[in-house]
Amino acid sequence: MAENTDKFIEMVTASARVELPLSDFAPRHGLRVQTTAVERAKFPCIDYHNHLDAQTPKDVLRIMDACNIERVVNITMRTGEAAFEVHRRFKDAAATRFETIAWFDWSDLNEPGFWERCVERLERYSDAGFCGIKLWKDLGLTLKDASGEMLRIDDERLAPIFEKAGELGIPVMFHTADPDAFFLPIDRFNERYEELAAHPDWGFYGSHFSKDELLAQRDSIFARHPKTTFVCAHLAEKSEDLAYVGRLLDANPNLFVDIGARTAELGRQPYTSREFFLKYADRIVFGTDLVPDLEMYRLHFRFLETRDEYFDYPSHASRQGRWQIYGIYLPDDVLKKLYRENALRLLEAR
Ligand SMILES: [Zn+2]
Repeated sequence: MAENTDKFIEMVTASARVELPLSDFAPRHGLRVQTTAVERAKFPCIDYHNHLDAQTPKDVLRIMDACNIERVVNITMRTGEAAFEVHRRFKDAAATRFETIAWFDWSDLNEPGFWERCVERLERYSDAGFCGIKLWKDLGLTLKDASGEMLRIDDERLAPIFEKAGELGIPVMFHTADPDAFFLPIDRFNERYEELAAHPDWGFYGSHFSKDELLAQRDSIFARHPKTTFVCAHLAEKSEDLAYVGRLLDANPNLFVDIGARTAELGRQPYTSREFFLKYADRIVFGTDLVPDLEMYRLHFRFLETRDEYFDYPSHASRQGRWQIYGIYLPDDVLKKLYRENALRLLEAR
């Protein structure tokens, strides 16, 4: 008997000692907890942050109808005539279901007259019915001016563009920097190691401006243009620190944030998230930043509407980190603002 027990222990210990590559580790959790299927958003919903350039309007509409998505805002990544073409393609397919945010065009940054041209382009976008303009993280991380200097986000040459956007009622969206983990070494302490190992070019460790500096440059702009509405994508890139986002919203009444691609961060701090959504219900817009798909939208609704525990977050193919999320069961009045009313304030500002 004792001999058998010894053998068993030996066997178990030997199998546990086998080195298992992290990429092969796929544990199945054993919790038996509530699972709520949410097929459609509880209220009509506007996805304020998506990228549809590569999509067919008909296919997207089918998913929207199935999930109670009233409208999708396409942040086009095209510039020049191609931007107008994609805008028209979606408007022609369903004018009331699609909107377009323009992508800031840096292609002729170092040619004479660039900054004046940016203001003219903004006017053209506005005339064509675009609903916003987006400045991406290349500003502050990679873009250099003719002298070889890294462009600052708070470069005063951008000021006339922000002022013009205010005049036209066109919100300015910023995606500045990236998650905190992307500014840390890609090593065993990095909680998004697998994601960064799969995409080493997403890492900005050792960047010219630190993440704190980048956010400080961005944050200084909002108070200087109080008549312009700003939207900080991805919870102002501080979903790891919602107190920071709260202070930013407190200080700047002209600022909104979207939740695009940050369900993983929000859903692993459900108590803090829930309080944040309740407190800033008027300032947060729903957005996904993920390819339109039934399951993707349903995971968002499950997170926002239910008390379900420990489930997968919506994400693209490479997961953000090895954790699960918890639903934050937002009340109806908050859901209505988050899903639709706040986005309408941005869309109807023009
Ligand atoms: Zn995006």
